[in-house]
Amino acid sequence: MQRFTQVLAFVAALGMAGSALASQSTGFYRSGGLVNGVQIPDTGEHHYILYPERCYLEGALRHNYTDPNKRYNTWAHKSTVDVILDVAKAVRTKHPDSPLIPVGELSSKFGGKISQHNSHQNGLDVDLWYIQNPWLAGDRFPECSRGIRYESKDPNTGQWFLRGEFPLNWNWTLMAELAKRPEVKVIFVGGLIRDGLLQYARETGVDSREYKRTERKLHAVKCKIPARYHKGYSTDSYKNNYCPHDEHLHVRFHCPEGSPSCREKL
Ligand SMILES: [Zn+2]
Repeated sequence: MQRFTQVLAFVAALGMAGSALASQSTGFYRSGGLVNGVQIPDTGEHHYILYPERCYLEGALRHNYTDPNKRYNTWAHKSTVDVILDVAKAVRTKHPDSPLIPVGELSSKFGGKISQHNSHQNGLDVDLWYIQNPWLAGDRFPECSRGIRYESKDPNTGQWFLRGEFPLNWNWTLMAELAKRPEVKVIFVGGLIRDGLLQYARETGVDSREYKRTERKLHAVKCKIPARYHKGYSTDSYKNNYCPHDEHLHVRFHCPEGSPSCREKL
């Protein structure tokens, strides 16, 4: 019996040795962890990190931000990082005129709760900023900016509309490339942005399979009355309504293979 137990322990050790460096996502998006996560590079050929939180949340963070060990919330499961980098490359290959893809927060090094997010806990949630028009933003939107709020309210009519500066072509390709990846479960975007992107795709006659696949994964996040948490914001769109995904999108990945304790829940 003892020998049998020893053999079992040996087999288990072998298995662990084989997967010692493999990323694992554990638990839920809103209550989970990350083992052997990898860090997305600060800059690359096709992306950069736009992380305004670190400009005002914790002063010390800003000063340490060139130290790779101090870069918070740039960690994720390896396949999450691989897909994001791959998608950024695909968008810029299709649109050589597109600026770099701005990447926001992922997870912290070992997962768990991070400031200002409920999810992002197990290396499977990524915030991207919409691709910004270079004539507004330059190739890189200023690091400490919060990006452009693309859903606005007409003060005369009270009607909400999608601002004309929103670059539909690049951002449609971004959504379509994300939706194409089986690893991507859902993409949360502003409601008017979803409508605008789908209308653009219909008008430009994109392939019907691409359209349906992208439509299915795009999930509209509607404006709502601001919660107390958001009172610090001073722009009109926050004063009257809080439109959570009108300046950035949130990509959520399926539980990857090799993460047996990962659980999917929206
Ligand atoms: Zn997010």
